[in-house]
Amino acid sequence: MNIVDSEQIVVLLSGLGYSQVDSAEQADLVLLNTCSVRDRAERKVYGHLGRFKPIKDKRPELIIGVGGCVAQQEGEKMLEKVPYLNLVFGTHNINSLPDLVQQAEQQHLRGCETDFLDRETRLNLFPERSFQETVSRFVTVMQGCDNFCSYCIVPHVRGREISRPSLEVVAEVQKLVSEGTKEITLLGQNVNSYSLKDKGEASFPQLLHQVNKIEGLHRLRFATSHPKDMTDELIECFGSLDALCHHIHLPFQSGSDRILKLMNRGYTRDDYLSKVEKLRKSCPQIRLTTDIIVGFPGEKEEDFQATLDLMKEVGFADAFTFLYSPRVETAAAKMADKDSALVKQDRFDRLLELQHQTSSVIWNSDLGDIQSVLVEGKSKRGEGDVFGRTTWNRIVNFSGSIQLVGKVVPVKITDVFRNAHLGELV
Ligand code: SAH
Ligand code: SF4
Repeated sequence: MNIVDSEQIVVLLSGLGYSQVDSAEQADLVLLNTCSVRDRAERKVYGHLGRFKPIKDKRPELIIGVGGCVAQQEGEKMLEKVPYLNLVFGTHNINSLPDLVQQAEQQHLRGCETDFLDRETRLNLFPERSFQETVSRFVTVMQGCDNFCSYCIVPHVRGREISRPSLEVVAEVQKLVSEGTKEITLLGQNVNSYSLKDKGEASFPQLLHQVNKIEGLHRLRFATSHPKDMTDELIECFGSLDALCHHIHLPFQSGSDRILKLMNRGYTRDDYLSKVEKLRKSCPQIRLTTDIIVGFPGEKEEDFQATLDLMKEVGFADAFTFLYSPRVETAAAKMADKDSALVKQDRFDRLLELQHQTSSVIWNSDLGDIQSVLVEGKSKRGEGDVFGRTTWNRIVNFSGSIQLVGKVVPVKITDVFRNAHLGELV
C-alpha cells in the first residue's frame, strides 16, 4: 500500500520540480510515509524525525513532512510535539501534498490535512500511474477496510472500504503491461471483498478472469485475502487461470476458535482448513504463506497449541509472525491482557522455530528442480548475477545477463538459503 502511495507522492512532487535524491542530507524536502499497524510505530516515527533535527538546524529551509497511517492517527499532535515539522498529511490527503509543500516553501506555514474524504471523491482521486521500467508492479483494486478485526488499526486509519470500477483496474493493468510490466499484483487490505458492496460490478474472481486475459501479462498475484471471503469461485481461479501464480498469502492469525472469535475474524479453524483443502484440490502445486499473531489478550497455552497444530497441519511455506501489540481505538486494546511479555516471547520463539523447520523442508524440496523464474533485475549478490521469482514468490539468484530481465527462464535450483534460492540458468 505504502509503495503505491509513495509512487503517487513522487509524481505529485515532480510537478513542483522535486526529484528523488539518495539521502536526507542532500534533500530540500524529506517525507516519511508511515504505517502504524504494529510495533510502537508512532515511537519509531518520532525517533526518525529526531534524526532529521541536526540537518534542519543546519539548513532551516529544509521542509519535513509525515504522511500515512501514523500521520492520520496523530494529526495536529505531531506538529505540537515536533516544532521543526512542517507538514502532516493523512491517508486520504496525498493530493493535498503539493499545496501543503507550497505553503511551507512560500509562506513558511505549517499545515495538517487528515480529513477522511467521501467515496466519490476518493474514487476520483486515483492517480495516473507513472511510467517505470519495472517488471513487477502493484495495482490498487480497493482501499480501506470494514472488517474491524479487534486488534487492527487499519479501519481506523485507512477509513471505509471502497472498490475501484473494474473497467479502470483492467485499463490500468493494460497500460502497465503495454509499457513492459510482466507481473501484476492486485492490491488491497482485503482484496477478495472487492466490489461485494457494489451492485452490478464484477466480482473479484470475474476481475481476475478479465485481467488474466490481458495479452503480454505473464504473471498475476493478489494480496491480501481474507479467509472469510475466499469463495469457491475464487478458489477455482487457481486451477483455471494460466497467469495466476500458485501462491496465496492467506493470514489465519490464530488456530483457536475462541481467540478467532475475540479477534472478530468471522471464520473458524475448520472453515480455514476446509478452504486450504479446496485450494489444494483446485491447484495441487499451490503454496501458502500466512500472518499469525501471538499473545492476543487472553490467549492461553491451549490456544497457542491450537495455532501450532494448525501450522503443522497446513505446512506454510512462510509466515509473518507478530507479537500482539495494542493499538489505540481498537476493541482488543480494552481487553484484559494478563500474560507477561516473557510468556508471549517464549510462545513467539516456539512458533518461529516451527515455522523455520517447515519452511526449510518445503524450500529444500526444490533442490535440483528446474523452475520457471521471471527475471526482475540485477542481483544484490554482485556483478554478473540477476534475480527473479518463482511462481511461489521465492527469490532465485543466478548468474545471467541483464538482457534476461522481463523474461521467464528455466533455472535449476542448486542451493537453498533462508530467504532465497541460488540457481543455474538451464
Ligand atoms: N488486511 C490484511 C493485513 C492487515 S495488517 C489481513 O487482514 O490479513 C498485516 C498483519 O499485521 C495482519 O495480518 C496481522 O497479522 C498483523 N497485525 C495487525 N494488527 C496487529 C496488532 N495489533 N498486533 C500484532 N500484529 C498485528
Ligand atoms: Fe485489519 Fe482485519 Fe481489515 Fe486486515 S481484514 S486490515 S486485519 S481489520
